[in-house]
Amino acid sequence: MQSLNVSNEELSRLGQEALQQALSYWATLDERPSYPATTGEETERLFSRPWSEQGIGRAVFDDFAAIADRGRPSTGRFFGYVVGSGEPVGALGDLLASALNQNTTSWRSAPAAATVEKAVTGWLADAVGCPGFRGSLCGGGSAANLMALAMARESRLPANETGARPGIVYASEEIHMSIPKAIALLGIGRDNLRLIPVDGDHRIRVHALDAAISADRAARRAPMAIVASAGTVKIGAVDPLDELADLAEREDLWLHVDGAYGGLAALAAPEKFRGLDRVDSLSLDTHKWLYQPLDCGCVLYRDREVARKTFTHSGDYVRILTDDPVESFAFFEESMELSRRFRGLKLWMSLQYHGRAAFRDAVRRDLEHAQLLAELVTARPELELLAPVSLSAVCFRHRSKDNAALLKRLVARGRVYLSNATIGDQFALRVCFVNHRTTHADVRLIVEEVIAAADELDP
Ligand SMILES: *Cc1c(COP(=O)(O)O)cnc(C)c1O
Repeated sequence: MQSLNVSNEELSRLGQEALQQALSYWATLDERPSYPATTGEETERLFSRPWSEQGIGRAVFDDFAAIADRGRPSTGRFFGYVVGSGEPVGALGDLLASALNQNTTSWRSAPAAATVEKAVTGWLADAVGCPGFRGSLCGGGSAANLMALAMARESRLPANETGARPGIVYASEEIHMSIPKAIALLGIGRDNLRLIPVDGDHRIRVHALDAAISADRAARRAPMAIVASAGTVKIGAVDPLDELADLAEREDLWLHVDGAYGGLAALAAPEKFRGLDRVDSLSLDTHKWLYQPLDCGCVLYRDREVARKTFTHSGDYVRILTDDPVESFAFFEESMELSRRFRGLKLWMSLQYHGRAAFRDAVRRDLEHAQLLAELVTARPELELLAPVSLSAVCFRHRSKDNAALLKRLVARGRVYLSNATIGDQFALRVCFVNHRTTHADVRLIVEEVIAAADELDP
């Protein structure tokens, strides 16, 4: 019989090997193409293999280079979607978190880890101007949005015992797809999501929202929640949070803010997020605009009692037998998860290693890069900016080329990676800056590469 135990000497060799591989990956990041050249046929051939009956030992490390070469590297020239940079101190924190193997369900099961997680979620709440909010870390913005909407439902139309009754949720037509997904999963039903039109700045039209709420009330339906965007995924628009908070207050609706892309920019530009401290719940993604390695989202909420009402269903086997306010704390009474990895450690290490000022400066640079790109685009007669730049996403097009074909050429050139968006009926090239490695030269390269790719296309 074979044992899973690894000797200390062997572990030391494995550890050095793993660390060496990570270090040489980070050291060569800047030389890597912005997108890997591979095919489905190739990745299947390389990696679809049966589980070996006998262990292959240290040979497992031989695959790392092949895997690394066929992944999207977090270089400063990857500008697609909203992809953070995987800050290496945070990555080392993840390694140590896995080594400790703490199950962060509660203080009782992980006294230090639970306290660290509470501390770092407090830092995040402070950083976005919501001191006093509580919360927990989770897999990402989708999980955070799902938990927030579960709280919204439980606070307005309690469903935990009797099942969901239709309540109406309002959001702009540019809301992220994780919101309709959460509404479907919660049994609210996507027919009960009202998508409200946006203004010229891609922000929700508050008058139209107000009218939609009145129409639903007149029809004896039950308005339940407003979901605002603090950074739409398309162009980074921030809905008018103060006005929405007034409206939510007047109508007694839950106000949730999806800040998975943009919320953490409040660290550097709080003036763009006025009203954020008035919301009921808020989603953040530290693996986006706080540069942390995947995965690490965060849900924050004002009223801990609503979280407890929504998520406490403790069985006997987890009952906590103490009244001590610290020692009786359980994440599983305020979150949908029970077993949870120690996500807080990477934040604890990365955020303290660099300090708050360094993160604020990095976010500020991303905001500046977006402004610089908008200027460079505006200065080129053949290019056209398609939307205002409110955070770090820039949407533009080439005036005389097929922009979808242009994007394909651009990506194939391998020097920068952009994604796309639809603005009105236009195909837009979309750039998003959420990477601390990006330089001014990289920003200039975007325009150079777009022009070069355009020149390669037929006129
Ligand atoms: C990324 C994103 C989400 C989803 O977050 P995940 O971490 O991918 O689950 C939700 N909303 C917005 C605005 C986002 O940018």
